Amino acid sequence: MACVFCGGSPVTNEHVFPQWLNQYLPPGRQRTEQARYGAGSFDKTRESTGLDFKVKKVCAPCNNGWMSQLETSSKDSLDPLITQQGLPLISLRQQRQIALWATKTAMMADQVQIQPLLPSHQLQRMHTHRAIPGGTRVWLGSCRDRNPTVTSHTVRVDLTGASTPDALQPVGFFCPMKIGHLCIYVYFPAVDVVIQHAPEFHSSVARIWPRRSSDLPWPPPVQPRNGEAFETFANAFRLSLYLYTPEEAAEHGLKES
Ligand SMILES: [Zn+2]
Repeated sequence: MACVFCGGSPVTNEHVFPQWLNQYLPPGRQRTEQARYGAGSFDKTRESTGLDFKVKKVCAPCNNGWMSQLETSSKDSLDPLITQQGLPLISLRQQRQIALWATKTAMMADQVQIQPLLPSHQLQRMHTHRAIPGGTRVWLGSCRDRNPTVTSHTVRVDLTGASTPDALQPVGFFCPMKIGHLCIYVYFPAVDVVIQHAPEFHSSVARIWPRRSSDLPWPPPVQPRNGEAFETFANAFRLSLYLYTPEEAAEHGLKES
């Protein structure tokens, strides 16, 4: 098995969620599930001390090199959102850093699936250019309860709303993550789409990728109450996405929302 990012070998066990997030966990073994990879892939729910979901698809130079540097350079942007709610604006630089980190983490979650969705050239471009794949959307939200600290599940999304010309890959990949107060929703459509979501979600999520043009007030006014409400919200949000092909969107004058 070659490293999914650089093609090197051998590969080592890499954590899906980085170990520095363990500092936010309550002491002792965690009673709640920490990660779940559903919809035709692995489903893992278990007790553990710390975050120990691993995937053996990354080489040590990537793990200890650029991925480790990405963690280090992202902590300062992520920490306040994980631990607090009343914050000043999130700057454009911070938004870009969070989007990059979220994309890398969702890529690792994708690698846990039996059939990862993202094509290898997009992982290679993350390695060489820290490039977020074209079409990726990242939204941020906040949750009132800080615990559970990390909860995540991935969902393959059939793009049934989009009349896609590319019938070979009519799916996308949705990865919501709750880390303390911070809620991140990453979506990789496998084909080119224009996305709109129902207006009621505008007060609870803010898209940070593709880039916004301004700083982001924080937190959003409407928030899921706790971990369970987050999961329910994440599903409702996913189901609220309207997907259009670029042709359909142009025809009806629809813009991304
Ligand atoms: Zn590598």
